[in-house]
Amino acid sequence: MSLETVPKDLRHLRACLLCSLVKTIDQFEYDGCDNCESYLQMKGNREMVYECTSSSFDGCALVSLSSSVITVWVSLSGNFKPGVYAVTVTGRLPPGVVRELKSRGVIYRSRDTAVKT
Ligand SMILES: [Zn+2]
Repeated sequence: MSLETVPKDLRHLRACLLCSLVKTIDQFEYDGCDNCESYLQMKGNREMVYECTSSSFDGCALVSLSSSVITVWVSLSGNFKPGVYAVTVTGRLPPGVVRELKSRGVIYRSRDTAVKT
């Protein structure tokens, strides 16, 4: 299989480390994360996009509004936007971001199942 067969839009896909939303890196940079923008402020900040999203993830799932599965993963206020979500995401949010989330009442649970606790 040649790389040419991979649709352009499927390259550079990354998953948000907080809510597992999957978008291209450009979408994250232009729009931020649909769910976490108020927490992660990735909009226009490519560095934050790299820190708060991961290119290594598995098992994309299309999620409709108010999915209980997703809301169990993270306890963000408000509804999750419909979209494509990863089931597992490899990587962790930077400690500083996790602290910031905690101070705002958001419990971060890593989606990285490879990490032994
Ligand atoms: Zn997110």
